[in-house]
Amino acid sequence: MRGNDVTNSQYGSQYGSRCGLVPAPSGRAYRVSSPAANAMVTRELADELRRVLERFAIEAGFNDRRPVAIFFKPGVFGHHQLGRAADVYAVGGVGIDQWKRRWDDACRRAAQAVDPPTRQIITKTEPVNNLGWRLYKALQRYGRWAQPYGYPIQLFGPWTRSEGPWKYISDRLLRAHDDHIHVAK
Ligand SMILES: [Zn+2]
Repeated sequence: MRGNDVTNSQYGSQYGSRCGLVPAPSGRAYRVSSPAANAMVTRELADELRRVLERFAIEAGFNDRRPVAIFFKPGVFGHHQLGRAADVYAVGGVGIDQWKRRWDDACRRAAQAVDPPTRQIITKTEPVNNLGWRLYKALQRYGRWAQPYGYPIQLFGPWTRSEGPWKYISDRLLRAHDDHIHVAK
């Protein structure tokens, strides 16, 4: 953990001094497990990510002795070019696409369950245990993300159509975010 932090700050000064960007920071209850270069962001976005990710991690039961891992990958288009966006690809060592598959499976099993108690067990446990969904909801509930004039709030992921904020997301945009969560500020 310590070693990671040192690596982060080393990379940070290398990249950051050139364009004013900083690595998405680790918190106390969560750790950024991806290389610093995967999420070089503005100070403003770094602060927002730290605030929201920390709250997510604590609410999900993690702490400084048992932090949850967050993995970013670099983005290319739009806000990414200015360091104003970040893409989360994994949480707790599991890909966002796998969390989504797990979520869909649980929904299917709940729909097929013949007795209400079984259905309740599924519908009550999955929102607690599914870290991908929890992360998406925490970003949605607690984050203040960019909303350029005439555009939707810049939070997209595999749950956007069912959970919002932009339920009218196009098929193309939804497919482009079926394995990660994109936020911009
Ligand atoms: Zn993105």
